Amino acid sequence: MNREHIVYISVGSNIGDKLDNCRSGIEALTRSGENLLETASGFYRTEPVDFKDQDWFVNAAVKITTRLDPLPLLRELQSIQLSAGRKKNSVRFGPRILDLDIIFFDDRIINTPDVTVPHPRMHKRRFVLQPICDIDPGIIHPVIKKNVQDLLNSLDDDGQGVLVY
Ligand code: ADP
Ligand code: MG
Repeated sequence: MNREHIVYISVGSNIGDKLDNCRSGIEALTRSGENLLETASGFYRTEPVDFKDQDWFVNAAVKITTRLDPLPLLRELQSIQLSAGRKKNSVRFGPRILDLDIIFFDDRIINTPDVTVPHPRMHKRRFVLQPICDIDPGIIHPVIKKNVQDLLNSLDDDGQGVLVY
């Protein structure tokens, strides 16, 4: 059967057993039968950005193939986050048990109220770019038109800590 779309998803957690939360989140992606896990990056310990006063994260990225369209896929990611026990955050960019973001969806550019793809902050975030580069450094960002390795190399030395787990 056709698996039409290639999608990169970033995975993160900074509450509880972060590594286990990420692993369980990745496993949950394939449960519905709509998604197939193609490749997973290594895990990283990463420093919080934007909202600094919280624990370090564990982050990874995965490449999946899926039959789902972007919005149904995002809804599935949100339901996995809720099943993991994620609560509504009072703080934007605050602590979370599990975060699953769509980074790339084929080479599509989507700007709807619910879905923005490529993810609007991915090109500034070492904790997203490093694991994606592990999987494929040559992926071209369809808006910026640079590959993810170049995006990673052009980040300022801003001290965003990203350490191999
Ligand atoms: P963040 O991951 O940016 O810290 P949240 O996980 O709380 O924030 O998501 C906030 C909103 O972002 C969600 O309600 C979702 O609809 C929206 N969103 C838009 N585009 C994406 C995307 N590509 N991946 C994940 N969420 C997205
Ligand atoms: Mg998110």
